[in-house]
Amino acid sequence: MTQLLLVGAGHAHLEVLRRFGRERPPGVELTVATLDRRHFYSGMLPGYLNGTYSESEVTVDVEALVERVGGRLVLGRAVLLDRSERSVNLADGTRLPYELVSFNLGSGLAGRDLPGVREHAVLIKPFSRVPELRRMLESPAETGAPPSTVVGAGAAGVEIACTMAAHSGVRLVEGSGRILAEYGEEFRRRATRVLADKGIEVATGARVAAVETGALVLEDGSRLRSGATIWLAGASAPPLFKHSGLTTDDRGFLLVDDTLRYVADERIFAVGDCAALLQYPETPKAGVYSVRQGPVVWQGLMAAIHDRKAPRYRPQDGFLSLLNTADGRALIRYKGLVGHNRFAWWLKDWIDKRFLRRYQT
Ligand SMILES: Cc1cc2nc3c(=O)[nH]c(=O)nc-3n(C[C@H](O)[C@H](O)[C@H](O)COP(=O)(O)OP(=O)(O)OC[C@H]3O[C@@H](n4cnc5c(N)ncnc54)[C@H](O)[C@@H]3O)c2cc1C
Repeated sequence: MTQLLLVGAGHAHLEVLRRFGRERPPGVELTVATLDRRHFYSGMLPGYLNGTYSESEVTVDVEALVERVGGRLVLGRAVLLDRSERSVNLADGTRLPYELVSFNLGSGLAGRDLPGVREHAVLIKPFSRVPELRRMLESPAETGAPPSTVVGAGAAGVEIACTMAAHSGVRLVEGSGRILAEYGEEFRRRATRVLADKGIEVATGARVAAVETGALVLEDGSRLRSGATIWLAGASAPPLFKHSGLTTDDRGFLLVDDTLRYVADERIFAVGDCAALLQYPETPKAGVYSVRQGPVVWQGLMAAIHDRKAPRYRPQDGFLSLLNTADGRALIRYKGLVGHNRFAWWLKDWIDKRFLRRYQT
């Protein structure tokens, strides 16, 4: 029996599970180790937070999926990869042996170790924390309370700020000189107008040094009063790879080649946010890349079992971006096209639901 171990139930591994169930490769024993029974799909989280979707609409029941495809689910946090023992160790001491292992762990939140962030900010990851944020949004803001703050003006920060604006005053704080740094000027201009129309104040070049009860302290020493502070300041690497002495990029993401295998060991694969692609280091940390890696990592794992040549992965050039603005519309960017309209929201809803339906039992 070949022991196949999947760590994390991110976008790519959901596809691996689906194909495993369809093909049932003989002689392969499947174990999945992940944090939670239900996996929250990040693309629909803003819609969940603003009450458009229920929890069951935005989650995959990983436990049921693994059971359906004939695998074994182990709940726990992977903390160490022991290459000499060929095992992955969980925080509770469980040791999971493997012949082949694949990681799809997503990413953490950059800056969460700054003073006061863990204690006083709302951390959206792991995504199992999101229901708590929804409850918070649903409770009425106290009169005279300072505006809430979203720290980090990437795509997720902009979406969450729009969601919160429907409930209370919101400020968006960004450490770099501009919002949506990975997008073009035209898209930024359109997004800036949407934020202004919603009364969302945007502060760029404002690097947060610490979070306190009811306030943010910026690096220049100034303080901003803040009701709730939502922390979305970019992606950080899962600590497991560095702790295990593996080769990573300079931010700690596991270095893989274009077959999605770890550069120093053919038995180890990594996909999605947690991987750094040696040949394509600029690949953004976004779920759409993880989705496209799903079929490739599946074929790579099967190629490793059958001693065949592994397929190569090449990231798509750009992607369709759709940002939910919590008003029945979405911002859209596709190649040269930029817009903000109801059709874009409809398209996002259709794409997201179609994606999730494949894995919902
Ligand atoms: C609010 C918000 C909205 C977003 N919207 C979009 C969008 O519309 N489109 C888009 O492309 N990107 C979006 N993103 C970015 C997107 O969330 C990430 O790029 C994406 O989740 C990465 O997917 P993944 O497959 O790598 O892992 P994830 O989908 O993040 O899954 C990681 C899995 O690993 C498990 N895990 C984590 N650590 C461990 C551990 N140590 N041991 C075991 N299991 C573990 C988790 O439980 C989870 O099952 C959004 C992000 C946020 C915060």
